[in-house]
Amino acid sequence: MDNSEWLQFVSVPSGTATPGPLTDKPLAVSAPTSLPPPVSQVPTPPISQQNSPSELSPESTTIISVSTTFFPAANIGPFPPDLIFLSSDSVFFYVHSHQVLGASENGFQSLLPPKIRKGHEDVGPVIALSEHSAVLNVILHAIYNMTCSHYSPDVDTVTAAVDALHKYGIPVTKYVTPSTPLFQLILALSPLAPIEMYTLAGAYDLHNLAVPISSHLLAFSLPNVTDELAQRMQPIYLKKLFFLHLGRIDALKRLLLPPPQPHAPTPTCDFTEQKSLTRAWALASAYLAWDARPDLSTSSIESALRPLGNHLTCEICQSNLTKRIKQLISQWAVVKFAFISFALVSTLLSRLSHLEHVAP
Ligand SMILES: [Zn+2]
Repeated sequence: MDNSEWLQFVSVPSGTATPGPLTDKPLAVSAPTSLPPPVSQVPTPPISQQNSPSELSPESTTIISVSTTFFPAANIGPFPPDLIFLSSDSVFFYVHSHQVLGASENGFQSLLPPKIRKGHEDVGPVIALSEHSAVLNVILHAIYNMTCSHYSPDVDTVTAAVDALHKYGIPVTKYVTPSTPLFQLILALSPLAPIEMYTLAGAYDLHNLAVPISSHLLAFSLPNVTDELAQRMQPIYLKKLFFLHLGRIDALKRLLLPPPQPHAPTPTCDFTEQKSLTRAWALASAYLAWDARPDLSTSSIESALRPLGNHLTCEICQSNLTKRIKQLISQWAVVKFAFISFALVSTLLSRLSHLEHVAP
């Protein structure tokens, strides 16, 4: 997240700045190409007499950045903000202490309520946090139950924000539920970084989140689970991830097993003739199962099994082979997109095998 995402203000020459009262909604001024170092003393943005950047020499000005969502006159609460957070990269966020305190179970890591210092009563106290503005932005949007997707935070930022929610005593299980914008944001990022987002869901036992993310993990290679990921995602979610893969591969093997239906002997195709198709099916399906991956495509199945028909002269055998491939593909499509649970895969299999029995 670059500085252009925050409101930029030019303050009076440094050293003479005196906090002034907050009046109108601050006007953003264009950001200079190179920002002066962050202010060492916490000023009160913005000051009433704003100057254009060109009127001030670079060494005498101080640029301060204020959140474009959490600025003094932002209409995000019934009352004006009474608390200011300062991110590690010196961006100011104006918030409501009751909102932050109401979300936190540990007094925002015991930083709230803040100790009021003299001279800051008019704008509320300033609390410096160790989080970067991009991370703090996601945290505060979560606390206010607002979406921050328009800021396009990346995977690392969102992960850091969820960890920080936990650190500040904000229950992750309550703030990352299907109805919250943060849940939707994590879900939207999951195709880009499925294992990272799945690990995050596992770390905080967010089952409702892990389920949809798991659909992006079929192509993930299990040997790529590092010690760090395994430790963070918790044993239950590691187990689910393995079952997602092994359960599907096991299901595929079971689905592949039955050969095409034999037919009553005809003058040109007796049982011995038909056995050659059964053997060819067994060989081809063993080849498929050997290299099976949970994301095996239906076209791969088709291209491995369809050529078996090339050597068949019997039309009934041809037709039975086509039916069997069609059935296998539809069964695999159902199993492939079902969730993780090994029990569920087993249930599906038993239902499918029941259908197989009743099918002609
Ligand atoms: Zn035949």
